[in-house]
Amino acid sequence: MSTHHDAVIVGAGFGGMGAAIQLKRNGYDDLLILEREDDLGGTWHVNHYPGLAVDIPSSTYSYSFEPNPYWSRLFAPGAELKKYAVHVADKYDLKRYMRFGTVVSGATWDEDESVWRVSLQGGETVTATYLVTATGFLSQPKMPDIEGIDTFQGKVIHTTAWDDSYDLTGKRAAIIGTGATAVQLIPEVAKQVSDLTVYQRTPIWVSPKSDTGIPKIVQKAFAALPFTQKAVRLTGTSILELLMVAGVLEYKNMSFVGKIAEQACKAHMRRQVRDPEVRRKLTPDYTFGCKRPTFSNTYFPTFNKSHVHLETSSITRIDESGIVTADGHRTDIDVLLLATGFNLWDVNFPAIEIIGKQGRDLGKWWRETRFQAYEGITVPGFPNLLSLNSPYSYSGLSYFTTVECQMKHMDRLLTAAQERGADVFEVKQEANDEFLERMRKKVGVSVFALGQCATANSYYFNQHGEATLLRPTSTIAAHREAARFPLEDYTYA
Ligand code: NAP
Repeated sequence: MSTHHDAVIVGAGFGGMGAAIQLKRNGYDDLLILEREDDLGGTWHVNHYPGLAVDIPSSTYSYSFEPNPYWSRLFAPGAELKKYAVHVADKYDLKRYMRFGTVVSGATWDEDESVWRVSLQGGETVTATYLVTATGFLSQPKMPDIEGIDTFQGKVIHTTAWDDSYDLTGKRAAIIGTGATAVQLIPEVAKQVSDLTVYQRTPIWVSPKSDTGIPKIVQKAFAALPFTQKAVRLTGTSILELLMVAGVLEYKNMSFVGKIAEQACKAHMRRQVRDPEVRRKLTPDYTFGCKRPTFSNTYFPTFNKSHVHLETSSITRIDESGIVTADGHRTDIDVLLLATGFNLWDVNFPAIEIIGKQGRDLGKWWRETRFQAYEGITVPGFPNLLSLNSPYSYSGLSYFTTVECQMKHMDRLLTAAQERGADVFEVKQEANDEFLERMRKKVGVSVFALGQCATANSYYFNQHGEATLLRPTSTIAAHREAARFPLEDYTYA
């Protein structure tokens, strides 16, 4: 393998693979995809906890240019997503670019040579004309900082490192966390263990999940008549778009949409949870949309089971055999399951050290100025960097909307550079400033600014309390801009 490449892509998940497909379409064939895990698929390789399934309809949660007619359910199980990732890598011949078990420690822009110097753990360095970071948003697991957790003598499993060989049958289990992961995990764990205590800090809005198996005959119809699946995709995308735009982004004028969603979630809970006290505890006190809601038909009924307990008193400490809460209650357990999510704002943004022109450190710069990236993908002072997991980059609810938008942006930008015979692009400061200002104004009318979000503990907000993760525009607007942004917003050399 040569040490210089057209592009180094960090991450072999759907973001990195989308970028690789786009670079190939733009004529770049010397790619290196570096992946810290031992296989491709990102989230869908790492996560394999019981109950894992996509919670966006599968026909929408996939590349539009690579539909999969064979999803077994409307919301496919996680293993099918992993299989789909492998299929994409094979079909687009991406595996030959991938190096697994390779941890990137940092990248520095070499101003003299106009290349990125990418350092790998172990001392190796590779160079590339373009650097694409596709390290994901939810890729750095969060371990709870609870007194005594290291002294626990039983089994501890974080959902991102599920131990498939560990038998939960008959065990006394605790689950910390009630995010989207826990909502999928809890019903499955409850089926196996003899006793389950769920430690909830912040409840989650849960709406009904219209899931169903997709019969083989329908799968065959999708394969034979692709427009039928396109129609299903369009329906799913439109519903998600409506939820996102009306329920979250245009909160100032359409707060009633969020209220309807809250009522629907509460009605769902009333139908499914018998005990009014448990219902009270499971009901969020923050506005729908402040934090990512989820869908489930099996989460709420789990709390009717006599061996499942919901604990809302905060955890004060963990000792060698159990958990003690602030009310003094102690629960002995055999296994501690951590559905405690991910650390976004401390260790991501960026996930590796990135040093641009004049020694500018991207992580420091984001923290000392503001979290910002032009169109959620490029940053002034960082030539030839395509940072896919940037502030304001996440568009819509399905990650594939984001990925495909970014592919469009890359296409327009790289084509413009090629037409000018340029090897180096850089976004202009004023274009970046204008974009940031526009996004900040738009956030100002969203639920993040006007809803009751203080108690949500939502990862949509950064450490300064600003909602800088999601792009506060419709996905239609995001796609339009990706295809039409002013080419003069960049310099080319
Ligand atoms: P999460 O939403 O961040 O939830 C983590 C949970 O752990 C929260 O309930 C949190 O409480 C709790 N927690 C964290 N540290 C704690 C501590 N020290 N003590 C007590 N509780 C603690 O993470 P997640 O559930 O893994 O989901 C992350 C995201 O992954 C989702 O929002 C979604 O975007 C994605 N996801 C997608 C799917 C899918 O099918 N597509 C499935 C699962 C997840 P607080 O809320 O109080 O912080």
